[in-house]
Amino acid sequence: MELSEFPKNIRPYLIPKIEGHLEYRCLGCSKTHSIDNLLYTCPDCGGVLLIHDLDEKKKTRCPGRQWRRIFDYRRMTTIPALKGIFSFHELIAPVIPLDHILYLGEGHTPLVEANQGLQNRIGVPFAFKNEGQNPSASFKDRGMACALSYLNHLISKKKLKNVLAVCASTGDTSASAALYAAYLGETIRSAVLLPKGKVTPQQLSQPLGSGAMVLEIPGVFDDCMKVVEYLADHFPVALLNSKNAWRILGQESYAFEVAQALDYEMEGVVLIVPIGNAGNITAIISGFLKLFRYGMIATLPKIIGVQSHHANPVYRYYLEPQASKRIFKPVKVRPSVAQAAMIGNPVSMPRVIEMVEQYNQLSEKQKIFVVEVTEQAIMDHMLLANRNGHIACTQGGESLAGLVKALSQKKVSRKERAVLNATAHSLKFAGFQEMYFQGTFPPDFGVRPKKGLQNDPVSAGLNKRDPFSDPRKLITQKEYNVFIEKTALKIMDLLGMST
Ligand SMILES: *Cc1c(COP(=O)(O)O)cnc(C)c1O
Ligand SMILES: [Zn+2]
Repeated sequence: MELSEFPKNIRPYLIPKIEGHLEYRCLGCSKTHSIDNLLYTCPDCGGVLLIHDLDEKKKTRCPGRQWRRIFDYRRMTTIPALKGIFSFHELIAPVIPLDHILYLGEGHTPLVEANQGLQNRIGVPFAFKNEGQNPSASFKDRGMACALSYLNHLISKKKLKNVLAVCASTGDTSASAALYAAYLGETIRSAVLLPKGKVTPQQLSQPLGSGAMVLEIPGVFDDCMKVVEYLADHFPVALLNSKNAWRILGQESYAFEVAQALDYEMEGVVLIVPIGNAGNITAIISGFLKLFRYGMIATLPKIIGVQSHHANPVYRYYLEPQASKRIFKPVKVRPSVAQAAMIGNPVSMPRVIEMVEQYNQLSEKQKIFVVEVTEQAIMDHMLLANRNGHIACTQGGESLAGLVKALSQKKVSRKERAVLNATAHSLKFAGFQEMYFQGTFPPDFGVRPKKGLQNDPVSAGLNKRDPFSDPRKLITQKEYNVFIEKTALKIMDLLGMST
């Protein structure tokens, strides 16, 4: 829509001003650090960082109602930099000029209501937010768009050369990092570290296709992360893991979009989120806190984190009801179909601990819970969802299994409605579906296929009379017609529709 057609009181705000005073704040020692340097941990104490906007007070003087109108109208503009997560520019990273923003089509993923049959079966209204419809087919693109846009901005501001970006990954981070780095072309090179044999073939093909250097490391994700941390501490490399606080900022857009899609009415809304490295749940909590401070929402929604019993450090931590007695202990992970969340020592744990407290306090009651689900439940619920028209990955299945668990534990009531994070596209994890359908799951997963959820191709061939059986033989028109007719009849027979 043309600028002149927007309401008069919206026009001056449609194109965001480049302003804001952002700084890193350490969760360990509370010291602040300038964002002019790329920092991943606090140089004083090694703690993890978050980015705060010192100008927020100024902005929250504008009423929440006006902010909602600005963001709603902005979706009708045609400027590419404002089409994705940066339609919420003021809330994310107002210091980045629009011409340094990368937009590859991330964000504004659809909220897809479950059909009536599935809602009845689960017992509560719910929708999936399809993060698999992001450009690299997972939610990681939200954070990456922000981190790479800021890196792009720093490179041009400081005239940096030969920038090397690195990350460790359970698969999707590397796919996303490599995609955005590839878009920047000569400006930066990217290297991704993957645990050998622990990412799916689809996830491995993505960074390779984007031209990144892909380094396979023996061990699991937690081991790759240690190597990457060493690299970031000792060499001038840009770290693209969620330790990078810019990624958290970008991922907050998920919360903004959910609020916008529900007309900012959060009463009775429950968000269900799988937890791995805990960056995503950190960002979602942080995003809703921001909307609350800006007066854009009146209630903080309930948030349920979900972990598999094979990788459950966050669940275990919150088993202790008294905050002062909780002790965080990393766990040794076991094989999980929710492979993208198979993490025993989540980097963002200090962020979660701090923000959960703040969230519950502001809500004046407990609004954040963590539930645990089995590998079996994850697979069964993923397949159930997809048989009802969804495109959930195994982690999306984990969200649905988590909703069922939370309902059974009365953490969610039948009067609420849920928004489930389907964090990636089902195609990335097709191998797990194949193992389920063919009954070839290695025993360590503890998954037993249920007949009713399995599906295999059925041969509609005609064995001996198949005219294609001898490739050297020419087929006559008559033989071909017979083949078509017989095949059609056989199909009707297989479908139980023959007369
Ligand atoms: C990264 C990832 C997760 C876990 O998110 P965290 O931020 O690490 O907690 C879940 N699902 C998918 C598909 C992912 O790629
Ligand atoms: Zn510190």
